[in-house]
Amino acid sequence: MSDNLNYRVLLYYKFVHIANPEEYTAEHLAFCKELGLKGRILIAEEGINGTVSGTFEQTEQYMRHMHANPLFADMVFKIDEVEGHTFRKIFVRHKKELVTLRYEKPLDPNKESGKRLSPVEFHEMLQRDDVIILDGRSDYEFDLGHFRGAIRPDLETFKEFPEWIRNHMGDDLRDRPILTYCTGGIRCEKLTGVLMNEGFPNVYQLEGGIVTYGKDPEVKGHLWDGKCYVFDERISVPINRTDEQVVVGKCHHCGSPTETFINCADDTCHLQHLVCEACDDVHNGYCSEECQEHVTAG
Ligand SMILES: [Zn+2]
Ligand SMILES: [Zn+2]
Repeated sequence: MSDNLNYRVLLYYKFVHIANPEEYTAEHLAFCKELGLKGRILIAEEGINGTVSGTFEQTEQYMRHMHANPLFADMVFKIDEVEGHTFRKIFVRHKKELVTLRYEKPLDPNKESGKRLSPVEFHEMLQRDDVIILDGRSDYEFDLGHFRGAIRPDLETFKEFPEWIRNHMGDDLRDRPILTYCTGGIRCEKLTGVLMNEGFPNVYQLEGGIVTYGKDPEVKGHLWDGKCYVFDERISVPINRTDEQVVVGKCHHCGSPTETFINCADDTCHLQHLVCEACDDVHNGYCSEECQEHVTAG
């Protein structure tokens, strides 16, 4: 019997105090290796954040193992079915923060974060006239797909958010409802805390993130335009399952619609950019003339 479709990707996080994160990291790496999982897992004093791929049985065993630990007994796993591993290796790393933010004060999402909305509640809020929809991800993720009407923060890394908020979100927005969303929900746990600390009291986050929204049988990903960027070999996943599907990605070179992401062929650049088929032929995988010349010049 073929088990081609018998792989799964798990996406999960939990903010919970881990007393000895370094020790737990080493132990967890050994466990994942033995199990044969691949992917990326971060462990910090504030919790765990991971995305892994494995066979049905491997991922079942992993979830059972995690749920048997009182710290992670109620951890929510988002599950995607795939055709094989979507990672090449397993990384389990100890980090200071699960999402690098380096904010002035420590933020505990269990004590201070925006109100969590289910996909159905979020979908309803999206259609109100007075809401601000703020994408909690990086610019290149936004460019492949986003909620209709969302603000695109022009930032490359998450830790630029506090500064961006101070520079771009004026006093006129203070009392408006602000909706935030990100891939799996973890970045909004912190982003909404930052917004509240920066003087925006009326903040909401999409529980479970975009990937959960896309699976909801009622909303079917409605009002999501384009695809959702993911951090594994799939690069993107579909979200909107209604008949209102559009392509929002635009070729870096010519602006025509595309959903193909590549890394610049110049190793010193590696800029991740969208490219159409015609331009990929002409530019040979380089993002710019400079990069192409840089390489040919040696
Ligand atoms: Zn093009
Ligand atoms: Zn380049």
